[in-house]
Amino acid sequence: MRIAQRGNPLIDLKSTSLFEMVNCQKVKVINTKIAYCGLYCGACKIFMATAENDLEDIAVRTKIPVEYLACDGCRSGKINLCCRNCGIRRCCVSKKINACNECEEFPCSVLTAFNNDEYPHHNDAIESLQQLSEMGQDEWLKMKIRQWSCENCHTPFQWYEKICENCGMKVSGYKEIN
Ligand code: SF4
Ligand code: SF4
Ligand SMILES: [Zn+2]
Repeated sequence: MRIAQRGNPLIDLKSTSLFEMVNCQKVKVINTKIAYCGLYCGACKIFMATAENDLEDIAVRTKIPVEYLACDGCRSGKINLCCRNCGIRRCCVSKKINACNECEEFPCSVLTAFNNDEYPHHNDAIESLQQLSEMGQDEWLKMKIRQWSCENCHTPFQWYEKICENCGMKVSGYKEIN
């Protein structure tokens, strides 16, 4: 059970405006919820559990210690071990770009394979990056917050949730993988 209720997403957007400068050459600031690959970290179960100091259950289930699981987002100072070693993330960092949409090879075969793999939350990564180019990060974040918040009570929900944990309303997370 969740120990602290997540706040209003609009307030949440404000609080995440503690932007991190990831590319000093371009002097461009990017929100830590925008992953290099186009995922919206704000709807990631690990991200939410870290924010709520509620990683113990996942650690027991996955047998991965909390310190390796914990994550504040793909470009934060605290990154989940798996995403820390992500080749797409490393590729963007090495190219000194803010995300794959800025790459001249976009969408390369690695990103395309990631987009088309068995994990449903990867399957709109390329579309999401195209939207990031078209909309800019502020509008993109507003869109993602709307998409990943309960229509009824505005509580954020994670990628694979089906029911809002706050009000019980049906929400449209990705279909679970079997
Ligand atoms: S675990 Fe990965 S997808 Fe989840 S918040 Fe961290 S970087 Fe983003
Ligand atoms: S080469 Fe591919 S993975 Fe690397 S930054 Fe470009 S699009 Fe992203
Ligand atoms: Zn709700």
